[in-house]
Amino acid sequence: MKNCSKCQKDKEDSEFYTRIRKSGLKLQSWCKVCVRTGKIEWRAANPERHKASERAGYLKRTYSLTLGKYNKILLSQDSKCPGCGKLPEKFDIDRDHITNKVRGLLCHCCNVTLGYAYDNPEILRNLAKYLESTK
Ligand SMILES: [Zn+2]
Ligand SMILES: [Zn+2]
Repeated sequence: MKNCSKCQKDKEDSEFYTRIRKSGLKLQSWCKVCVRTGKIEWRAANPERHKASERAGYLKRTYSLTLGKYNKILLSQDSKCPGCGKLPEKFDIDRDHITNKVRGLLCHCCNVTLGYAYDNPEILRNLAKYLESTK
């Protein structure tokens, strides 16, 4: 039996989540019900922070990119898309498709454009010349 520090009820040990500590498995101080409702309440009270933490998790899972690193790249780009110079609501993360390394942040259109041009600067240069020559 353990007393939940949130709802102050005595509950079975199985009603608590465990936490791994150096000294071994420890029961959390809040019971499962309180942890769950606490999470929902926190989300409702902090929708922006919840969104940010979801996004951070997504970045980490998909690109092994931390939010700090993401913000650093963003800052180095002046928070703008290096292609069109726009400020998109959400950036695409541009990766080298061979090494999988994150190259930078692009707006969706510019990222797709790079993909269509096979990430080939030569094609993009030629296209730019072509466009200018037709003016
Ligand atoms: Zn509780
Ligand atoms: Zn762009």
